Amino acid sequence: MNLAEILIHTASVRPARAALRLGDGVVDYAELNEASGRVASLLGTYGVAAGDRVGVMLPNVPEFAAIYYGVLRAGGVVVPMNPLLKTREIEFYLGDSGARLVFAWQPAADEVRAAAQRLPGVEAVIVAPSGFVAELLSYEPSDLLVQRSPDDTAVILYTSGTTGRPKGAELTHDNLTRNAEVTQSDLVRLSADDVVFGGLPLFHSFGQTVTLNTTVAAGATLVMLPRFDARTALALMAEHAVTVFAGVPTMYSAFLAVDDAPALPRLRLCLSGGAALPVEVLRQFEDRFGCAILEGYGLSETSPVASFNLVDQRKPGSIGTPVTGVEMRVVDLDGNPLPTGEVGEIAIRGHNVMKGYWRRPDATAAVLSADGWFRTGDVGRVDGDGFYVIVDRMKDLIIRGGFNVYPREIEEVLYEHPDVAEAAVIGLPHDRLGEEVGAAVALRPGSTTTETELREYVRGQVAAYKYPRVVWFVESLPKGPTGKILKREIVAPSDPPAGVQ
Ligand code: AMP
Repeated sequence: MNLAEILIHTASVRPARAALRLGDGVVDYAELNEASGRVASLLGTYGVAAGDRVGVMLPNVPEFAAIYYGVLRAGGVVVPMNPLLKTREIEFYLGDSGARLVFAWQPAADEVRAAAQRLPGVEAVIVAPSGFVAELLSYEPSDLLVQRSPDDTAVILYTSGTTGRPKGAELTHDNLTRNAEVTQSDLVRLSADDVVFGGLPLFHSFGQTVTLNTTVAAGATLVMLPRFDARTALALMAEHAVTVFAGVPTMYSAFLAVDDAPALPRLRLCLSGGAALPVEVLRQFEDRFGCAILEGYGLSETSPVASFNLVDQRKPGSIGTPVTGVEMRVVDLDGNPLPTGEVGEIAIRGHNVMKGYWRRPDATAAVLSADGWFRTGDVGRVDGDGFYVIVDRMKDLIIRGGFNVYPREIEEVLYEHPDVAEAAVIGLPHDRLGEEVGAAVALRPGSTTTETELREYVRGQVAAYKYPRVVWFVESLPKGPTGKILKREIVAPSDPPAGVQ
């Protein structure tokens, strides 16, 4: 099984169906499949052999999909990279993965070339300008497909994991094919009539599996947006009658901030993942747009989908139940299972769990047990109905004077305040207590709430040791490429606002 077969199959049964839309352009399944075949034969001319790593540094454009499936058809291993990376970072990804070739989007071509020059292992930088798909279609057709076994690596996804510098999670053809199939058939129930919105970056696991691979497996259409912006996304969703949206929580908050949002009568399902979705954001979005949000959970290391809420069986505030073929449990620090209701680390086993971290046996052994259980670094619990709740990430836990404070609990309270658009709670160094609780908050435009009022608001609702002693306002919170809030980049004010300490 080669992951690219999902495209080959769909192209054989629905050749004329629109696969990808970007702006006014449309690429149908026959064209996408032909373009990917030509990428595969192009790689053949470079002597790319089964298992060779190929960097793919493109934004959400049709070329990404043609190259992604083309590399797989050639038997190569895709190493997706954020198109905004700079030379130093590119050098790390290409060097660490041992890539022989790299596809670069035109605007970043110089950065990629500069990195490649420092790496003797990189033999060529192939620049893919806009319109590359059309160019490919003028070459000789090729139906090259190198067979791979299910356990062969298809994609190396770099992730910071729970700690340290990025590590490459090795995901196999089986991991990715099954995760896309389970997501498509069990959760989203996508059909060829669906139109999916592709605002999540495709170089990240959430966008890659839940938008690209599931859409292709179902023969649906993916509306692409290279750089997410709430207003543009809403306009495109209305214009193309999008039926399914997948995003991270900050995207839903951003939709709520658009006053004159268009109606989206065709939208039937929204999916949220990547970070905790505040219940208040879910409630407001559902009231306003009339479409349910199902929250799910996963990591790059789990392809990523591990658990999800279902339309007819959901609990807002929870990450749902494990998906078909995936087991989850809550364990103590030694890896022993804990009883229902107790808080511990979430562990996952199943067809979605990565083979390991690329060339990092020690890092792999630290998270993956011999019997296949992957330790996620997330703290959670399971209720009597089998629904899991993420309490927080282990590394985000704040220990204030010996008491545990889970930022997520405080963030949920902050999001209930009508003036709060975004909030992140972090630990601040403190001489006596070890850590103090701080909250960085972005207010809705025109709000007049003060830092002190917000602090008192939370104080009235949680135990005394938990409320944020320091609250400060920011324009917006720092976010990663998917739109997830990056807590480690939040800078606390050196001089907290008067009266707030
Ligand atoms: P990544 O590997 O970038 O996809 O990040 C995975 C991490 O995102 C997990 O370890 C969790 O900490 C977080 N995450 C994903 N989904 C959720 C969710 N529904 N609720 C809370 N955290 C989540």
